[in-house]
Amino acid sequence: MKHLDSEEKHIASTYTREPITLVEGSGVKVKDEEGKEYLDFVAGIAVTGLGHSHPEISEILEKQSQKLVHVSNLYHIKEQAELAKKLAQITPEKIQKFFFCNSGTEAVEAALKLAIKHTGKDKILALRESFHGRTAGSLGVTWKKVYRAPFKSYPFSKCEFISPNDLEGVRESIDEETAALIAEPIQGEGGINVPSQEFLPKVREICREKGVLLIFDEIQTGMCRTGKWFASDHWNVEPDIMTMAKALGNGFPIGCMGAKSEVMGSFEPGNHASTFGGNPLACKVSKKVIEIMLRENIPEHVQRIGDYFKKELEKLSEKHEIVEEVRGLGLMLGVEVDSEENAKTVLEKARENGFLINRTADKVLRFVPPLIIKKKHINKLIKQLDKIFEEIK
Ligand SMILES: *Cc1c(COP(=O)(O)O)cnc(C)c1O
Repeated sequence: MKHLDSEEKHIASTYTREPITLVEGSGVKVKDEEGKEYLDFVAGIAVTGLGHSHPEISEILEKQSQKLVHVSNLYHIKEQAELAKKLAQITPEKIQKFFFCNSGTEAVEAALKLAIKHTGKDKILALRESFHGRTAGSLGVTWKKVYRAPFKSYPFSKCEFISPNDLEGVRESIDEETAALIAEPIQGEGGINVPSQEFLPKVREICREKGVLLIFDEIQTGMCRTGKWFASDHWNVEPDIMTMAKALGNGFPIGCMGAKSEVMGSFEPGNHASTFGGNPLACKVSKKVIEIMLRENIPEHVQRIGDYFKKELEKLSEKHEIVEEVRGLGLMLGVEVDSEENAKTVLEKARENGFLINRTADKVLRFVPPLIIKKKHINKLIKQLDKIFEEIK
């Protein structure tokens, strides 16, 4: 393949890639350049929630690109205001103001800056196993040392990490320098870790009591992924600031930081900006995504199909020794197997048989398919996994 030569010569070596090149997709299916078809349980890492090549998304991309793509935030942008109004309908009640950017990590940077500006303090608390992105600020609140270590003191460093579910730790770590606590309501890259039932509500209480802002990173868990619009809805806990990205544009790059009005009020002109952020094209696409999810009642579908998927995975877990645990909510599910090597083998065998799955935290198989996935697709995967687990043991 010629493109692989060019890739080796000219593309930065930042990724370990699987040995296939995907060239087209439709719904929950993707095809590689040899014409082999796959059922996609990755969805571009929880991004294409409405599936690949959604006709209404393609249409809006085409139409808006012929009208206006980008003008910068030097001017009022109608599409941005319209998207914000739509977002305010689905985000927690008090999250009413938004800043648009182009990726997850940028949304986190914006959230951290806002928290620091609002409180006048600069210590952040984060959770062990957290993942918040790869730019300096986000990297500074990301747990994995291997991500941070090569860059010495470059990441924003005034961060303390607490074990998930350790409420005493949260209480003890807060001091007069603490601006905010940032958490993924359900950890994604960290291995699909669902907190204890009381953790987030109690963290909310403690933060309120101590005057510390609570930031929820809903980049992976948001946009119906867990069967609610946002994962924090499962516990009825409202953050002061939240971040979104991944599925927000169904693959078109857009990120967003939302906050309570009184918190966002601390940003003054010049405090933060993005050249591309919230351009007419991105906003039109994202608004369409939300409209479709509302119209199709995607949260309910995800709850139903997610429960089914999880039960089927649990059945496999009872049957096969190599499965240690099944975790997650909605269509954000993880299956921890007994070793990294076995997890790798499962991935490979699944791919050979036409199923794309992903692996995180070394030995956790991660399932984050398009939200429109149906029972018949899940049944096919389960049958395949059953076979693979049998072969491996
Ligand atoms: C993916 C992810 C990010 C980073 O998003 P990018 O768009 O890759 O910068 C941050 N936080 C969480 C929870 C994520 O899952």
